[in-house]
Amino acid sequence: MSFRRIEDAPSGKTALVRVDFNVPMKDGAVSDDTRLRAALPTIHALQAKSCRIALLAHFDRPKGKRVPEMSLKPVAPALAKLLGATVAFADDCVGEAAKGVISALPAGGVILLENTRYHAGEEKNDPALAKEIAALGDFYVNDAFSAAHRAHASTEGLARILPAYAGKQMERELNALDAALGKPKRPVLGIVGGAKVSTKLDLLQNLIAKLDRLAIGGGMANTFLYAQGRDIGGSLAEKDMVDTARAIMDAAKGKCELLLPVDVVVATDVKPGAAARTCGLDGVGADEKILDAGPETVRRLLAAMDESATLIWNGPLGVFEVPPFDRATVDAAKHAAARAKAGALVAVAGGGDTVAALNHAGVADDMTFVSTAGGAFLEWMEGKALPGVEALRS
Ligand code: AMP
Repeated sequence: MSFRRIEDAPSGKTALVRVDFNVPMKDGAVSDDTRLRAALPTIHALQAKSCRIALLAHFDRPKGKRVPEMSLKPVAPALAKLLGATVAFADDCVGEAAKGVISALPAGGVILLENTRYHAGEEKNDPALAKEIAALGDFYVNDAFSAAHRAHASTEGLARILPAYAGKQMERELNALDAALGKPKRPVLGIVGGAKVSTKLDLLQNLIAKLDRLAIGGGMANTFLYAQGRDIGGSLAEKDMVDTARAIMDAAKGKCELLLPVDVVVATDVKPGAAARTCGLDGVGADEKILDAGPETVRRLLAAMDESATLIWNGPLGVFEVPPFDRATVDAAKHAAARAKAGALVAVAGGGDTVAALNHAGVADDMTFVSTAGGAFLEWMEGKALPGVEALRS
């Protein structure tokens, strides 16, 4: 996809940059600066253009009120430390005071503006608020993919008023997503796991239309097995979703090969170190639960990875938080990461539990790209247009 980039932006001007600074805080200080570090390439690129940089972000959900505990103020010193330079702070993202501090910045100077969600107009995408914010700068940069599924004043409204560009982190994310689902190298394999079919219906429907193969795992696979008439004992399943599961299997026929479990790991309890056993699909006892994919299923999945050029992954294959039911997820993650590291597979993964599972497997850094943007990543996998991204298209 083509979008405007920072390289296309003017020099020596004031940039309004939307970032994701919704960081974990403890005792009034930033406790994990991953998201601050993610913004550094964009800040540095704008500094190289001698621009003044005004950072816009939301923090938590103050719902249009000034909630002191939800101030972005503690973020300014944490960012200053990473930049090795002063970061000014303005206690509002609009108005004369902010304007004054911005105009006093030297070229390359950085200011953080207070929580955009202190204004009710932010989440309503109120054009009047967007206009007030826009008055503070010359152009707009969006570097917050994780907020791009929301049409808010600072994620979408501003792009209608000012020339708009994708930030460096946004650009990385869009390129990775394009390589996985937009214009992927084929064959493309998907893995969708997790608890339920009902929360990932749109996602499954979009993927079967786009992928060559789709492996279904986790609790949601149980619903598919049940729909095929298998006895799944006491496993988690959505029995009211069997018609939907059948419709997905029908729709996939001739288009996308579905890989469902051929063997499973079962136990009567979901406890660490629980007595678990592997069995075929006909061997699940009435009091047993399917908690992970079995070794033959994993072997077939790894073979499918070896035959694929691209992998897109969301959701664990089993109850990965409780060993030994992390086995299939960990083995699959290690194989995908090794193939990606060897340059044989473009492996893109995302979604909250998926990031946790890849970290648990110790391979998140070896994947081609891991998106930490929960909701935005899922909506993109569902094939939905993200308003914050659409606004950047050239
Ligand atoms: P999701 O948020 O939909 O990606 O679901 C992730 C959750 O699904 C994790 O907490 C897993 O423990 C859970 N899960 C995966 N496989 C199973 C299974 N076979 N039975 C019950 N829960 C599962």
